[in-house]
Amino acid sequence: MPEVINCRRCKRIFMHTTGPQICDACKKLEEEEFEKVRAFVREFPGATIQEVSRETGVSTHLIYRFLREGRLEVAESSPIALQCEHCGVRIKSGRFCITCSKRLANDMIRAGKSLLESYERNNELSKKGEARGLRYLHGELKEEE
Ligand SMILES: [Zn+2]
Ligand SMILES: [Zn+2]
Repeated sequence: MPEVINCRRCKRIFMHTTGPQICDACKKLEEEEFEKVRAFVREFPGATIQEVSRETGVSTHLIYRFLREGRLEVAESSPIALQCEHCGVRIKSGRFCITCSKRLANDMIRAGKSLLESYERNNELSKKGEARGLRYLHGELKEEE
């Protein structure tokens, strides 16, 4: 259902239906900025993000967003890159490098395992308790210790 909201970019009120919460004018503008950045990066693969921003007039913030979204691709040798949020190594898109993504996934599995182990330990204890209770039910209550 269309609703009237403020554009997240220019704050103007517009009729929003679906997609990003920016008005059509801004959407068009952002598209143009993206094209500008892409063309510049292609022409000057050695430019830093500050240089790209200065020459295209597009904020580094937006350039980083293009990178993070995987829309903007830069050459292997380009000084423009995102950094792994974990180890700071340069990456091309997303938030973590491959090594850290794997390590984070492993950590999660390990965390899951230790949770499972403590769960099993608890289970073990309650089983012992049950066994004792069973003996009691059978009328063979004997103290083991
Ligand atoms: Zn707008
Ligand atoms: Zn990393």
